[in-house]
Amino acid sequence: MLETEIIKKGDDSGNGTLVKYTTSTGAVIKAIGVPQSWKSTLGPTWCYVIEGDDLTLVDPGCYGSMSYLEQGLEELGHSLSDVDRILVSHGHMDHDGSCPPVIRKSGAELWAHEIYGFMLQADRGDVEMGWRREVQGYEAFEHSETMSMVMEHRKLNRELTLDHPVTDELQAGGLTFYYTPGHSPDELCILYDQVLFSGDHILPLITPHPSVAMSYNSFKATLPSTYQGGNEIYGLKALLTSLKRMATLEGDITVLPAHRAFHRGQFNPIGVSRATEILEHHRDRCHELTEVMKSGPKDLVTITREYFSDREVEAQNFFLAFTEVMAHIELMQESGDISTTNGSAGGKVWSNGLGPNVLINWNGTDLFSAFIDGL
Ligand SMILES: [Zn+2]
Repeated sequence: MLETEIIKKGDDSGNGTLVKYTTSTGAVIKAIGVPQSWKSTLGPTWCYVIEGDDLTLVDPGCYGSMSYLEQGLEELGHSLSDVDRILVSHGHMDHDGSCPPVIRKSGAELWAHEIYGFMLQADRGDVEMGWRREVQGYEAFEHSETMSMVMEHRKLNRELTLDHPVTDELQAGGLTFYYTPGHSPDELCILYDQVLFSGDHILPLITPHPSVAMSYNSFKATLPSTYQGGNEIYGLKALLTSLKRMATLEGDITVLPAHRAFHRGQFNPIGVSRATEILEHHRDRCHELTEVMKSGPKDLVTITREYFSDREVEAQNFFLAFTEVMAHIELMQESGDISTTNGSAGGKVWSNGLGPNVLINWNGTDLFSAFIDGL
């Protein structure tokens, strides 16, 4: 277990908080609660600081929030220009958003999974926009403040160079990198001493949003040849496979997540067994979706609206709920629990066999459960 000490108190969800963690072997990790730059109930991104001969940051935090990172570092006795190395858990705006300005000031090396380097260059927004625009309710998300920030962030990130492309099980400087795709195709968990920096792969209190398997078709051509053989990096199946893998890590490991390490005034310590809880949550969600589908064939938008509460699908939240459902339906297609029919002749069908007018029929089976066990 870790010894935990609050160096500076911030707000109730950890924004502006500084924490010192000490492992039983005496390794010290400090954490800065870097607020999001948009209105969010998520709480901060936890930026972890390793002070050795070099100064290493794990996830510098949200695009637009660099001043909070800078202030936190100063309170720990460092300046931004002292940073030698940035490790990125995955290429989402709330994690790598401050990379460009921090690297500009410090000349720090950038470490991330090798796919991150390819994703920096891919026009991710444009590639996925086509099918997304066919989803009723997407408009609110597309025109949200968050989306416009995502676009600005991607534009700035295109200037980044990935100095150290990481692959699975790389060991360097006392760190072991595990490739854990699913929430994002470039997600890393990073082991340091008895601590696993889990990015968004393993979170306390909340579950990481799965990507959709269909995205693999969109980005396959931009990926290194070792990833061209079949999809193992996008979707719920990839996420569950990665969760199983981290659950088997041995030793007295404490997980230091990028979110919710502290929430409503309390720390939420977790170990790698939290990965199994998240996996079971998704198995339960598959079961719950069969309950929605048992009354007859429905399209994805209808299933989403019936499954989630009104609050969860209001305005810009809708699209996240929609892709969450899609990720589960994709898995159940693969396990053989679902068949589809095109509801209107000539209606769009996406590369995963789903689409705006495609009706989803549950076959009455629960094969997904054995399928998950077999991953
Ligand atoms: Zn995140």
